[in-house]
Amino acid sequence: MAPGARTGQTAAVLLMLSTTHRPATDLGFLLHKNPARAQQVEVSTGTAHVFYPEATDDRCTVVLLLEVDPIALVRGKGDGEGFALGQYVNDRPYAASSLLAVALGKVFASARRGVSKERPELADTPLPLEVHLPALSCRGGAELAERFFGPLGWRVQATELPLDGRFPEWGASRHVDLRLTGTHRVADAVNHLYVGLPVLDGAKHYWVSADEIDKLLRAGEGWLAAHPERELIAARYLAHQKRLTGTALARLAEVDDAEVLDDAPEVTDPPTPLAQLAQLRQGAVLAALRSAGAHRVLDLGCGSGALLPALLAEPSFTEVVGVDVSARALELAARRLRLDRMPERQRARLILLQGALTYTDARLAGYDAAVLMEVVEHLDPDRLPALEHAVFTAAAPATVLVTTPNVEHNVRYPALAAGGMRHRDHRFEWTRAEFTDWAQGVAGRRGYAVRFLGIGPDDPEVGPPTQLAVFDRGVAA
Ligand code: SAH
Repeated sequence: MAPGARTGQTAAVLLMLSTTHRPATDLGFLLHKNPARAQQVEVSTGTAHVFYPEATDDRCTVVLLLEVDPIALVRGKGDGEGFALGQYVNDRPYAASSLLAVALGKVFASARRGVSKERPELADTPLPLEVHLPALSCRGGAELAERFFGPLGWRVQATELPLDGRFPEWGASRHVDLRLTGTHRVADAVNHLYVGLPVLDGAKHYWVSADEIDKLLRAGEGWLAAHPERELIAARYLAHQKRLTGTALARLAEVDDAEVLDDAPEVTDPPTPLAQLAQLRQGAVLAALRSAGAHRVLDLGCGSGALLPALLAEPSFTEVVGVDVSARALELAARRLRLDRMPERQRARLILLQGALTYTDARLAGYDAAVLMEVVEHLDPDRLPALEHAVFTAAAPATVLVTTPNVEHNVRYPALAAGGMRHRDHRFEWTRAEFTDWAQGVAGRRGYAVRFLGIGPDDPEVGPPTQLAVFDRGVAA
């Protein structure tokens, strides 16, 4: 096919997504596109075609083919994607790129939300997937494709296409034949591509506006905050507009600890993978709550809700209150909990409140227990007395559980051995002695007894990775 951008010919770019998870044709339910029926969708950049060249129980492949309309591109269709500035011709119609991402976003909008009426569980299940983009515009070449998709858990095969320089109008762009193999939820895979294509393309200069931040964060939910290249991704996705990039990164930094730590590939290796540590921490907190006989429980600094589902899963916790200062975190929590689809009886046991733990708050008084899981280290040390007063004297639950990293253990994580902290929003991390000191001081001043437990393997030299203090009121000496 000859380059046709200057002549107004249409051209096509395509993406293939396959699964071998049996029955593979269920892919159609997850994509909300029937394998038996080819479909056409008009998008701002041309016409998108969706069809299945193979659809058997063993293997199912969907093709998204975008027929680019260069005239529409140059004129801009003004449908909100903002192509009015599309005065460019070079390689656009030929390479899977930002334009394909726009089509992908629209055609698979429901799939990207991860919901499927017919196969709700499958939508939540990571499936073996393959993606093939035969001609991906990739200004960073194969190496950038690896840097983007590798940390997300994809096996990346990127072969540079020897096209460059053949067509002067393609300018300096480079192209790769990209194959990805991995096990992902279909929604996650589509969102990886939705963000990845324009990031690799690096030419998304024409549609960037403030609501792109929302699109990026929505598509990046659950993976972008932990991505080692998040700065590069945000900058390229937002076309290097410093103000937008700064806002996006600030909002990403609000995403809680658990999410960042659990997924961060550079620190998940030895000796206790952090994802596993998060599980252990949750288990320890639940066990302490049960043994305290708590029924009405506060999760203070609940973040995006790492603990809330486990609390709601136990009917003995009759009231569960998640509190966080970050509205964004609470929004993520509501989404994680699928609040809109939660059974009424469970919904009635849950309250989400926005509030700062450094101010007394009458809504928090009178509970059986409060959990501060990985929260205190997010406060500036000079705010700790305010938190101490608000939690232990004003709210004054019978039991308070506080977990925090044991900084001594960081030497066991190679990525942290040089003195790094476990999360970039941590204001401090304590040794066992420092935590004990603080907790005993609080207990003494506020009328609680305190005992200490380790979470994770108790290393003979540096102690456990996480420390837990259990405060009980009423049994103080
Ligand atoms: N407990 C969760 C989240 C820990 S991250 C978990 O274990 O996964 C710390 C959380 O504390 C963040 O969501 C942050 O927004 C919240 N936070 C920090 N300072 C706060 C304050 N002063 N008041 C209320 N929440 C605060």
